[in-house]
Amino acid sequence: MNHSTSSIPFRENAVKALSNSALRGAMRNATETFAIKRADAVAALPLEELREEASELRLHVLNNLSEYVDRFEMNAVRAGAKVHRAKDSEAARGIIASILQDHGIGRVVKSKSMVSEEIHLNDYLQEVGITVVETDLGEYIIQIAGEGPSHIIVPAIHKDRRQVGQLFAEKLGCEYSDDPAVLTGVAKKILREEFLSAKAGISGANFAVAESGSIVLFTNEGNGRMCTSLPPLHIAVLSIEKIIPSLADLPKFIRLLPRSATGQTITSYLSVLTGSRKPGESTGAQEMHIVLLDNGRSELVSGEYREMFKCIRCGACLNACPVYRVVGGHAYGSTYPGPMGIVLTALLEGMERAKSLLDATTLCGACGDVCPVKVPLPRLLRLLRERRVEQGLTPRLEQNAMAGFGRVVEKPFLFHLGQIAGHVFWPAVKKFGPGDAVGRMPRPVSRTFRERFA
Ligand code: SF4
Repeated sequence: MNHSTSSIPFRENAVKALSNSALRGAMRNATETFAIKRADAVAALPLEELREEASELRLHVLNNLSEYVDRFEMNAVRAGAKVHRAKDSEAARGIIASILQDHGIGRVVKSKSMVSEEIHLNDYLQEVGITVVETDLGEYIIQIAGEGPSHIIVPAIHKDRRQVGQLFAEKLGCEYSDDPAVLTGVAKKILREEFLSAKAGISGANFAVAESGSIVLFTNEGNGRMCTSLPPLHIAVLSIEKIIPSLADLPKFIRLLPRSATGQTITSYLSVLTGSRKPGESTGAQEMHIVLLDNGRSELVSGEYREMFKCIRCGACLNACPVYRVVGGHAYGSTYPGPMGIVLTALLEGMERAKSLLDATTLCGACGDVCPVKVPLPRLLRLLRERRVEQGLTPRLEQNAMAGFGRVVEKPFLFHLGQIAGHVFWPAVKKFGPGDAVGRMPRPVSRTFRERFA
């Protein structure tokens, strides 16, 4: 498997996205709708109080992560699940493939999981001969389109219903329709057969409860419930920071997550799965495996980026981000897009790969304002930009310009001289200088702020 480690060409991707009017229309409609619905849904909540409590709880878990992971594992095993710890993506993929191969399974149904995207699970399973059928409608759409998700909650946000209609007609051989009810009916019929014949289901988890060893799933289509309870084998893959101490902590997140994600007061299906099916129970997988992915998190939670891992993957920061709203998720070229995606990509995939993404933010603060668990995204983005400069990963021209600017502003005389020169020569620079940006910049004033107001 060859997953690139080279730098993401965000600028080129963004230029391409900006010239795609269908994409921009779909993004505008969807993100505006979510932002309005979210604002309405949180209006009735004691929002600041809840955000503070949720933030504190998430930080408490991160500060004691290894203890909570141990407790979760112990209780999940006690409830009948088999727990596997995966140091990195490769280990997680290998564990999941081995479980399926040991059972002779060549086809699985899967519900939406960003962690499975992080470890590139589908590609890997396909390479070892296992077919994965995505069952979340958005995931199903992008799977048959041969694309990755462009939003962490709404994977096909970039497509409008006409595009989905064309895609279904082309790939599934059905008659063209752009009626969402008809298209959903087509997918439902196909997926129902998949659920009924599946020998294994793969899911992620929104939370994992340390005190009971349960995993918790929030879904809107019921497909998560089908994947985890219909086939005899269920494999859940989740990253270790998803743990919360007890079931008593869940209501906080039940109030915050759907409202922040889709503007719903409550999600349609909420499943709490505790171990495998017990004697006398009529539903549930007969064998449950839980794969706990670390992928650098144990180390990262003890450092300066710890607060990123408070994230509960609601996607509100994506919907609020003025950059994401116009370029869409694919321009980020990484598993996680938007403001949270920039930070996570830099942390999980390295600064060299993420360096251009750090320009994909206006630092307006909207992402931090909407975050239900108070992840300080603007601060983390600034911190990463500082690290990018320290590591010499900004363009040479920018480094030299900043070094020169630094030397000039240190000496008032030079600064003043530069200001006058800038004022005098600016018309010529605008005329002959490089690029649009220079053309749009205003002429520098000839007198300093102090001089003007003294
Ligand atoms: S950083 Fe906050 S707003 Fe963004 S996805 Fe995570 S929890 Fe939601």
